[in-house]
Order: sequence, then C-alpha cells, then structure tokens
Amino acid sequence: MKIGVLSLQGAVSEHLDQLKRCGVEPAAVKRPGDLEGIAGLIIPGGESTTIGSLMEHFGLNEVIRERCRAGMAVFGTCAGMVLLAREILDGVKDQARLGLMDIKVRRNAFGRQKESFEAPVALKGFDSPVEGVFIRAPIITAAGSGVEVLAAREEGIVAARQGRLLTTSFHPELTGDLRLHLYFIRMCEAK
Ligand code: GLN
Repeated sequence: MKIGVLSLQGAVSEHLDQLKRCGVEPAAVKRPGDLEGIAGLIIPGGESTTIGSLMEHFGLNEVIRERCRAGMAVFGTCAGMVLLAREILDGVKDQARLGLMDIKVRRNAFGRQKESFEAPVALKGFDSPVEGVFIRAPIITAAGSGVEVLAAREEGIVAARQGRLLTTSFHPELTGDLRLHLYFIRMCEAK
C-alpha cells in the first residue's frame, strides 16, 4: 500500500519519516500523476495560503477531489486542516482549498508564532493522550453532523474525522508518537 505526502511546502520530510517508521513506503506527491495508486494522502502543516495556491497552480485540487470520491483517504494536519475545510475564517480573499470536510475552521486561532505551545490531547479511542504540538494552529469552530469529534479543547475542536478524512490542528509528525499515523494507515487499509 502506498501513502503519499503532499510535498509542495511545509513539514513534508517529517511526515515521510513518520510513515517510514510505521513501516509504510511513502510517496512524495508534487503533481497529479504522483497520485496514481495512492491509498491515502497526508497534507502537512506549513502555510495554507502557499500550499493552496501551489495545489491550484499544479492542477492538484480537482484530481485530489476525484480520488477522494473514488475512496482515497486524506489526513490534513494544521495547514492541512485549513485546506480540507468547507469554510475558512480569517483566511485570505478567495483562499484556495479542497473544501472536502464539513467543518468551519479558524486560521491562527491561538495567535501568533510566539503563542505556539505543546499540550497533551486526549483522543477518542486512544488509551492515553498524545502530545499536541500547536504552531499557529487552526481550530474547528463548527462541524456538520457527519463529522466525528475526536478531541476538543476549551477553544474548540482539535481533531476530527469524517469518513475517510482525518484532521488535527496539531503536528503529530513532530513527536515520536506514531499512533495517529498508524490510525490513518488503518483508515487507508479499510475498504
Ligand atoms: N497558520 C498556518 C496557516 O494558516 C498553519 C500553521 C501550521 O501549519 N503550522 O496556514
């Protein structure tokens, strides 16, 4: 099974390494043809406006949407959450996005870079918390009925799943904890 990491900007190599540690051979996705034969795609953290414009520029958005309709799973972390959202608050005008998840997301919801922080996150179905690394992180302020909330803080929802779509506000690739990546790999394997 092949899992891709969208490799345009952001925390790309960290996700590639994390997948290798999970025993999966990752594929760097830069152009539509790279999505061939991929069961799941990770959209990393970084700068959602940059990643979104590059995705549009290279014609990736429509192909990713099509592949999702055909069953490809997607895991969006941090900026990846913004790109998955149906609605973005505090985005730039006409911000490019996939809009696949029925969530409303506020960008930079915890403030500026210096307000970045780490905190344990208790995820539904996990027997102990994961360490959440929040870097200019977004938050989900509203979610449709088809969205399962996996974790929330006082400020809002920080992890959620909608069918074959998974998202976290924080960066699971920046810790040694493989559990979220393994969770996503199981989602990719399930038919
Ligand atoms: N604030 C960034 C954005 O909106 C996301 C930050 C991150 O991915 N660490 O794109």
